[in-house]
Amino acid sequence: MTRFLLLIVLIAVVFYKLTGRRNARPAERESAPKAPQEMVRCARCGMHLPADESFPGRGGAFCSAAHRAEFENGQA
Ligand SMILES: [Zn+2]
Repeated sequence: MTRFLLLIVLIAVVFYKLTGRRNARPAERESAPKAPQEMVRCARCGMHLPADESFPGRGGAFCSAAHRAEFENGQA
């Protein structure tokens, strides 16, 4: 009888750990590697893109070197 109770407790602990990890993992994945990334808007076409992928120019940030050139040529 004690073995049976011990088995039930063991199963409960294993089940609790498995479900607890499942619930904790997505939150860890979302918070740890996905640091809040600054988004910028292309001054030429208005497309939003991460700041580290943008092309900084005189008129702001741009989605591509072509749009930066178009914008700066239009301004001049
Ligand atoms: Zn653009």
